[in-house]
Amino acid sequence: MILPKTNRLSPEQLAEVTAIVGEFDCKIQPIVGAVRTIYAIVGDERDELMMNRLEGLAYVDRIDRIQSPFKLMDKRSDLATHRITINGTTLGESLFVIAGNCTIDPKNPNYFYETAAAVKEAGANMIRGGVWKPRTNPYTFQGDVKSMDILLEGSRRTGLPVDTEVMEEAHIKVALDAGVKCLQIGARNALNYSLLRAVGREIAHRDVVVLLKRSIHMGPINEFISAAEYIAAFGNPNVILCPRGTTPTLDGYRNHPDESITPLLKEKTWAPVIVDPSHSVGKAAYVPSAALAAVAYGADGLCIEAHVEPAKGIGDDPKQALTPEVLKKTIAQARQLWALRR
Ligand code: PEP
Ligand code: MN
Repeated sequence: MILPKTNRLSPEQLAEVTAIVGEFDCKIQPIVGAVRTIYAIVGDERDELMMNRLEGLAYVDRIDRIQSPFKLMDKRSDLATHRITINGTTLGESLFVIAGNCTIDPKNPNYFYETAAAVKEAGANMIRGGVWKPRTNPYTFQGDVKSMDILLEGSRRTGLPVDTEVMEEAHIKVALDAGVKCLQIGARNALNYSLLRAVGREIAHRDVVVLLKRSIHMGPINEFISAAEYIAAFGNPNVILCPRGTTPTLDGYRNHPDESITPLLKEKTWAPVIVDPSHSVGKAAYVPSAALAAVAYGADGLCIEAHVEPAKGIGDDPKQALTPEVLKKTIAQARQLWALRR
């Protein structure tokens, strides 16, 4: 829909827009109002180049898109009834909880094994553990591929599937071959389109899922859903959206908590939403409240950092990780709230 700056287009302007859309097999249908005339684009209006050329015209105020740019992730797409099932649990039918260490310590694997057991005992559905880590400071621990064996041993001991972040193309195959069920794309890489494409390509014919974090640089909701579309476009639509706090930070919190975007996402996409309250607020003391807020906003799940002895952890764990007791209580309360909301 073309909305001109003036009340109607001049004959020359109408001829120009008609010629542009004609190049893309579309037509213009004027909709004449008492005061203003607007111009419907009849045909497939999803061509970005056509839209850019129309938006570039000096006499065009704005273009309203009727059709969604997401062919697969849109709530109105054929996939709207698609459900993601992990290890027998279908997202949307109960609160799905991922919990575990921020970073696996390869020198002290028992912390991860003990955390994995505690996470299972607390009622979580999946265990998380960072093998490769995106660190702001290049001199801090960057992760270690040796932790992959520890991650999968934690999975074997508990019978729960595992989630880990992949940061580059080479990581994807290593993680999938090892048996990782959920590939996490972190906030720093959520706008790395070549990595998104590589993940999409590698998971296309596998029974695995992706947890796509929201980048701190993502503004409009569409940007987040489009990132998921990049992955789904290769054939496996099992992408879960994960708000994890954004920027500018809210003084006192690590980021600006963004669990409140959950209803907005749910209006546009069928994709499940699993909120990460740990990176959002960045301090263990605030995590339980942020987790409950996420559920109140309609989240389908939570991704929480936890550690048997947070003070002995590495990465974010000393600051953010919940102890097993607090994790267990938070999961129980979150599930009660989820049931209440339902
Ligand atoms: C993490 O999950 O430990 C992590 C680094 O997350 P994010 O990408 O959200 O910062
Ligand atoms: Mn972390």
